Amino acid sequence: MTDALEDWLRPTPAGLWCEPGGFHIDPQRAVPRALVTHGHADHARPGHGAVLATPETLAIMALRYPRDRPARQPMRYGETMQAGGVSVRLAPAGHVLGSAQAVLEYRGRRVVVSGDYKRAPDPTCAAFEPVPVDVFITEATFGLPVFRLPDDMAETARLLRSVETFPDRCHVVGAYSLGKCQRMLGLLRRAGYDRPVWLHPALDEMTGLYRQFGIDLGETRPLGDANGLAGQIVLQ
Ligand SMILES: [Zn+2]
Repeated sequence: MTDALEDWLRPTPAGLWCEPGGFHIDPQRAVPRALVTHGHADHARPGHGAVLATPETLAIMALRYPRDRPARQPMRYGETMQAGGVSVRLAPAGHVLGSAQAVLEYRGRRVVVSGDYKRAPDPTCAAFEPVPVDVFITEATFGLPVFRLPDDMAETARLLRSVETFPDRCHVVGAYSLGKCQRMLGLLRRAGYDRPVWLHPALDEMTGLYRQFGIDLGETRPLGDANGLAGQIVLQ
């Protein structure tokens, strides 16, 4: 027996596999036991026998996959459980509601599988928690230096200036239904915009789930009720 990481955590065709724990992390295929870091579809897929995730992520998956019936094992941030000698804990990843880093410890070695994470402040989810580790496993979609994203409040101010300048126009902002939409709402509220924001039905449904978990996003209205949107902001 060696102490190599691959002895207990390694990539397989179904995804990252923790052998002593008997579970995959964010598997791409249906597996008996999955630890899911967050609700985005490239991490949370249907068809697993059992899913361990935060209560928020489990609720998001239930909303997105209403016919999926895995055994759901909720685990709050900071709780610890043992699986085959592996200690498992979920730490906030700051990405979307319920997003978590998987903190795994086995034979004195700690590994974090980050899932997607964000260090910038976001009032719609728990802040990223730095965890000291021996090995950090991550993907960095926007990690290349070529990606220089503008300041979020400055972009929000730009949008609000445009709304003020063109009161006869409707401003439509494209936003992914889970995470980006609610972050945009949070930014608008932080910038002092207190009027209703109109939402595409898919965004409206997910925003309702955020509210169930106590995230205040101000008044929103489903786009279906819209009757003349001059001067309004629409997220879709
Ligand atoms: Zn994601």
